[in-house]
Amino acid sequence: MESLRVLELYSGIGGMHYALKESGIPAQVVAAIDINTTANQIYNHNFPDTTLWNKTIEGMTLDDFNKLPFDMILMSPPCQPFTRIGLQGDIADPRTKSFLYILHLLPRLCRLPRFILLENVKGFESSSARELLVKTLMECGYTFQEIMVSPTSVGIPNSRLRYFLTAKLSTENESTQSSKILDAFPHPAESDSPEQHTVSSPLRPDTCQPEEGHVLYKQETQMDAQRKMSQNRDLSVRQVQDFLEPLMEVNMEHYLLPPKTLLRYALLLDIVQPTCRRSVCFTKGYGRYVEGTGSVLQCCMETEMENVFRGLDQFSEDEKLQQLMKLKLRYFTPREVANLMGFPQSFSFPEQITTKQQYRVLGNSLNIVVVARLLQLLVS
Ligand code: SAH
Repeated sequence: MESLRVLELYSGIGGMHYALKESGIPAQVVAAIDINTTANQIYNHNFPDTTLWNKTIEGMTLDDFNKLPFDMILMSPPCQPFTRIGLQGDIADPRTKSFLYILHLLPRLCRLPRFILLENVKGFESSSARELLVKTLMECGYTFQEIMVSPTSVGIPNSRLRYFLTAKLSTENESTQSSKILDAFPHPAESDSPEQHTVSSPLRPDTCQPEEGHVLYKQETQMDAQRKMSQNRDLSVRQVQDFLEPLMEVNMEHYLLPPKTLLRYALLLDIVQPTCRRSVCFTKGYGRYVEGTGSVLQCCMETEMENVFRGLDQFSEDEKLQQLMKLKLRYFTPREVANLMGFPQSFSFPEQITTKQQYRVLGNSLNIVVVARLLQLLVS
């Protein structure tokens, strides 16, 4: 197959670029575009030979795009207008402007790209932006498929349920795209849905902080516990330990949960052990906010979690802390989050990027294994 020329819009740290490489499809990214300077530094660091435009998409002209030209568009438009945690501004949100501009440009391109892949959050499927996208694609002669996929369906112990749309320019000698994409992914594990509920809790991170001195006692429900158990029993999914850094390489001091966090948020944490086959979605607030931002890892296996939590509320603050510290709870390192998201070992951060920035950009990115599989199905 001839090498495809690919345009990567909203490129971030290059999740789409890595997925393209991982898919094995002969291709080159002819241009990547993003306005986030931190993400762009990371992109540049890992793909020094790729043309990266540090510009807004709406600042590019039709001519700029026609000059490239390209056979495929990969894009993850900003998701905030569509998340349930946000205000769901949809097409009225200024952050959707660039996406509407792309829809305006598409039919006007000298040559339509043969393939398009779009990733977004759950919520996009019912947006007006999605309706406009579908309308534009049909008018331009594309066939398309939409699917919600989580990495658990490709054996990765991390939930990240996302909306994907793949589109192919119809040619005369080709009948409509079969449902091969839908067939390739088992229906998103039922177990993913309640967790999404946690992730998109209507509580904003800054409003879920209890008043000074208070501890939140939100126990997990029977249903949560059962869901976690059944996820851990699913042998089609790998164990978390396969994605961890060697112990010597983890600066424990840096990643252990501080006493204040333990005391205040112990009951809100999603705790996993290395042998678990699940973890919740890592979001951009990981390491800064506790609820719904990602799982934490129990490093001391000699202590039973149940024993620590049983009767915890009857202890004094000091005793409580003693108990909780026994578990040696730590954050996953950015490298480990990257591993769970399918980033290859060759991926790295430039030295000046802080841990918080690393979590932030990873939280905005995507699961590479999932996208690589979708790309293979789209192009085959
Ligand atoms: N897929 C990417 C992340 C996409 S998140 C990855 O793997 O990292 C959405 C990205 O869109 C962010 O990086 C944000 O900086 C960028 N963005 C938002 N509005 C933009 C605009 N108008 N023009 C260009 N980039 C934009």
